[in-house]
Amino acid sequence: MNPIDPRFKTIIEPFKLKIVEPIPFTTREERETLLKTAGYNLFNIPADKVTIDLLTDSGTGAMSVEQWAAMFRGDESYAGATSYYRLEKVVRDLTGFKHVLPVHQGRAAEKLLFQVFGAQGRRIPNNSHFDTTRAHVEFSGSEAVDLPAPESSDTQAEHPFKGNMDLAALEELLKHDAARVPLVCLTVTNNSAGGQPVSMANIRGVRALCDKYGKPFFLDAARFAENAYFIRTREPGYAERSVRSIAEEMFRLADGCWISAKKDGLVNIGGLLAFNDTGLHDPLRNLLILQEGFPTYGGLAGRDLEALAVGLQEVTHEDYLRYRAATVQYLGSGFEKAGIPVLKPFGGHAVYVDAKRFLPRMPPQQFPAQALAVALYLEGAIRSVEIGTLMFGRKNPATGQDEPAPRELVRLALPRRVYTQAHVDYCVEVAQVIAQGKHLVRPLKIVSEAPILRHFTARLEPLGS
Ligand SMILES: *Cc1c(COP(=O)(O)O)cnc(C)c1O
Repeated sequence: MNPIDPRFKTIIEPFKLKIVEPIPFTTREERETLLKTAGYNLFNIPADKVTIDLLTDSGTGAMSVEQWAAMFRGDESYAGATSYYRLEKVVRDLTGFKHVLPVHQGRAAEKLLFQVFGAQGRRIPNNSHFDTTRAHVEFSGSEAVDLPAPESSDTQAEHPFKGNMDLAALEELLKHDAARVPLVCLTVTNNSAGGQPVSMANIRGVRALCDKYGKPFFLDAARFAENAYFIRTREPGYAERSVRSIAEEMFRLADGCWISAKKDGLVNIGGLLAFNDTGLHDPLRNLLILQEGFPTYGGLAGRDLEALAVGLQEVTHEDYLRYRAATVQYLGSGFEKAGIPVLKPFGGHAVYVDAKRFLPRMPPQQFPAQALAVALYLEGAIRSVEIGTLMFGRKNPATGQDEPAPRELVRLALPRRVYTQAHVDYCVEVAQVIAQGKHLVRPLKIVSEAPILRHFTARLEPLGS
């Protein structure tokens, strides 16, 4: 609903522009050459050759006037900086956690946490581990156990909380293997499951199981505000509550959290680790000093701490979140109306195109999602990211063939407060052109690839070229 008057349907951007950043334009011919040079891998395209960059919502947001103003207040003292104490108070008020350690981004918090909690033979459950989380859990010698709710696997099911943890599976794990489980994690929103939210009832369910089995409970809270907004709009009993108070309730059900502040912190770099257990403080602080920096700056400049303190307060504003959810929905329904199937319901930070449904005759070995991402760039200078067989497929050593990933998705992630409705309208128009001309999506093959995380560096070419 429009906040000015219910007669008006348009949800306008709740900001106006003060600084502008020109976006580049290229010709189709230039993009054809750029793609060839880049090995049809969009990670190899220079950003100044991308008109609309929807590669990620991480660290790509625009800061507000208040954030830029706060940066001038940055206290760059090595120890005891006032900027730290300001941030500490903001984080304590929001989360209720006693100890607050700043880190340079989310994975730095994961590195610290799993050095303390992880070890050979341990098992760490989560609704779905984000890729850096999984990597740090596995690097510690532990097993990363994903326990997503069963409804998360159907891209078309309109379940309001597809990000939930499977509580029955968690109880099963704790009942039979409690000794090997050092903590329970829950990712809000569930990034790997399409930015889908977790309900308060589910968070409470995890809390109850952690109490029953005596386990600490940590939130991976990169998108806590988007999650709280979905609780308000989708979960019975929360419609009258402020998003801020819902976020406060979420955090208070857990024993600690880590946050990649490049998402709902509304900053370009930063992260946090916060928790209650005083016994954890010394080991985590000592690792922080070794790996990040002194505890009152932890791998960030004083000005970064200031911008984050403001961002954490701005992000729960209702006007901002309403606009954010409306933008994702507007982009997603535009694609859907154009005839390109998308993951439903819409999540918080991105639209996920279901390339398998759009191109049912293109086998996974021809990388349909990457082919569609390449077409969006070639035709429209839009950058997205493939989440399919290029990213997650495994080479079968016996046959040399790619074992397909379970899904072929193209993610269009929206940077925060960056693009306007005209930019989104344009993306939808590009989608219409591709939907009406499927021949524009050309199957691909891999020319060279690295043994791990191949999607970042692989080189491809159109089949038959
Ligand atoms: C981005 C992200 C991380 C990692 O944070 P970085 O800041 O990229 O290091 C961890 N978990 C989730 C859910 C994320 O979205």
